[in-house]
Amino acid sequence: MIKRIIINIHGFDIAVILTNASKMASISHYTYGQIYLSCPFSTSIDKIKISLEKRFSYRLLAKFDHELLFTDSYCYILGEKRRRVKPFSYLEITKNDFFAKDDEELFDKLKKLAYDILLSRVRKYETIMNTKKHDIKITAMSAARGKNYYKKSLLTFAYELVHFSLELIDAIVIHELAHDFYQDHSSNFYNVVYKFCPDYNKRIEKLNYGVKK
Ligand SMILES: [Zn+2]
Repeated sequence: MIKRIIINIHGFDIAVILTNASKMASISHYTYGQIYLSCPFSTSIDKIKISLEKRFSYRLLAKFDHELLFTDSYCYILGEKRRRVKPFSYLEITKNDFFAKDDEELFDKLKKLAYDILLSRVRKYETIMNTKKHDIKITAMSAARGKNYYKKSLLTFAYELVHFSLELIDAIVIHELAHDFYQDHSSNFYNVVYKFCPDYNKRIEKLNYGVKK
């Protein structure tokens, strides 16, 4: 099970994605401007806050884009801020609105959207990079952005990518497809990545800090 809570860390409101575990993990990750931590769901917010303030410096968190990926009133989709509207709301509807009656429906819609978008980007870069064809799967909230199961011809991608611009999504697609040539993270592997994405490092930095486009 996964839970998303907003915690004030060093004065910044940060989305913390919790995975239930029997004890608090010593390692935690950040990406998309969010922090991913395994700990018992019964842990108090104060205890999590104190622990994360030790793990992540003010200097690091100050670099994050502090606008959350979504709230009750908006949701970022492909790097654009869309107003979030509940069906039958009194608001005047515009074509830029995104409908979801609750967070469950929001995740559902985002996952479906992520699947369609990632499949089309994978098909595009399979041709450009001249790789084999892959199936794709979208994973729930996880610090792992993508994974290439080479023998199964399967790529998995985190649904969170759908909040970011196509340019940033493509960096992850190119990374995973480059694993068809090298299954490690050697300099040979990165030569393939840089060939198709010269500003790869800049794009990854944006994804890490939660910069939407
Ligand atoms: Zn990799």
